[in-house]
Amino acid sequence: MTTAAPILLTPGPLTTSTRTRQAMMVDWGSWDDRFNQLTASVCTQLLAILNGADSHHCVPLQGSGTFAVEAAIGTLVPREGKVLVLINGAYGKRLAKICEVLGRAFSTFETAEDEPTTAADVDRLLRADSAITHVALIHCETSTGILNPLREIAQVVEHHGKRLIIDAMSSFGALPIDAREVPFEALIAASGKCLEGVPGMGFVFAEKHALAAAQGNCHSLAMDLFDQHSYMTKTGQWRFTPPTHVVAALHEALLQYAEEGGLPARHQRYANNCQALLDGMAELGLRSFLPAAIQAPIIATFHAPDDPRYEFKAFYERVKAKGFILYPGKLTQVETFRVGCIGHVDAAGMRAAVKAIAEVLQEMCRSELAREER
Ligand SMILES: *Cc1c(COP(=O)(O)O)cnc(C)c1O
Repeated sequence: MTTAAPILLTPGPLTTSTRTRQAMMVDWGSWDDRFNQLTASVCTQLLAILNGADSHHCVPLQGSGTFAVEAAIGTLVPREGKVLVLINGAYGKRLAKICEVLGRAFSTFETAEDEPTTAADVDRLLRADSAITHVALIHCETSTGILNPLREIAQVVEHHGKRLIIDAMSSFGALPIDAREVPFEALIAASGKCLEGVPGMGFVFAEKHALAAAQGNCHSLAMDLFDQHSYMTKTGQWRFTPPTHVVAALHEALLQYAEEGGLPARHQRYANNCQALLDGMAELGLRSFLPAAIQAPIIATFHAPDDPRYEFKAFYERVKAKGFILYPGKLTQVETFRVGCIGHVDAAGMRAAVKAIAEVLQEMCRSELAREER
C-alpha cells in the first residue's frame, strides 16, 4: 500500500488499518488447527458484541453481506412461512427480492426514503394478516443512512408471537444492539462494515432453537446455515473453502476494535465523523437529505449542488484525485451523493474530505455556492 492510496468514504468496502491488511500476509490451510481457532475466536468475539452467547449461534458464511441475508431467509423461514418486509430504501427492496426469488410468500410495507417504519405500523400490519410468520427489517438503511427504530419494532413483533430478521449490516458493531433486550430470530452483518475488516464473509446470529428447527428448510446446498453450523460444530472447520485471509483480517480488526474500547468507542468515533461531515458540508451550503433525528452516524446523503455545471462522475473523479472516494446517491426521485462515516478514519479525516469537496466544487462551478443556496 502506498501512502497515496485514497481514503474510501464508502460504507463497505471501506478504509482498513495497515495492521488489518498485514494480517492477510499469511496463507492459512483450512485444516490447520490454528486457523480453526481463528474462526472460533472470531465467532466468540462477534457474539460478545451483542451479548448473544446464551441465546444465539454465530454462523459465518462465505460471500458478501447479501449472501448471508439470503442464507438467513432461506434457512430460517419455512417454505410455508410468510415474511412482512419493511422497506424505506434499496436494501429493504432487496429483502423482498430475495423472498421472491426463494419462493417465500411475502408482503411489503413501504414508507418514503426519509420516513422510518414505526412500531405502530408493524402492530397494525401484524393485526391485519395472521399468516405472517416473520418480519424483516433493515436497521440502518444504507441507501440514505436512515435509522429504523429496531427496539420498538422488535417488541411489537415479539408481542404478536412472530419472528424478526434484522439486516444490521451497516450498524452492527457501531450502534448498540443487545440480544438480551432485543428479541430476534436472526441478525445479519458482515466483515467489511463497522468492524473494519475486509469484505468477503457475512455472519448470521441465529437464535439457537430456531436454527435447530431449520433442518431441511433451505432451498440451497451452499446457503444452508443449518448445515454450515452443524459441520462447523462437529469439525471446527468451514463446510467449503473458507475465505482464510478475510477471517485472519477480521480477527485482527476485532483485536483493534477491543483495544479502541469496543462498541461505545467505535460508536463515538463514527458519531464524531458524522458530525464533522454534516457541519462542514452545511458550511459549504450543501444540504443533508435526512433530518438529524433519524440520521444514523454511518453514511450521510447530500443533495447535489443546485448548479447546471455539477455532474457526479466529474465531481467523483476530482475528489478522488484529492484522495477521497465518495459514493453515488441511490435515490430515484432526487439527485444526491453519499459520504460514508465508517472505516479507519477520524474526524480530522472527514474535515480533510470536506475541504477537498469544497475545492472541487469551487473548481467545477466557480460560483459561490454558499451564497446561492440560501
Ligand atoms: C452493505 C449492506 C448489505 C450487503 O451488501 P453486499 O453488497 O452484499 O455486501 C446489505 N444490507 C445493508 C443494509 C448494507 O448496508
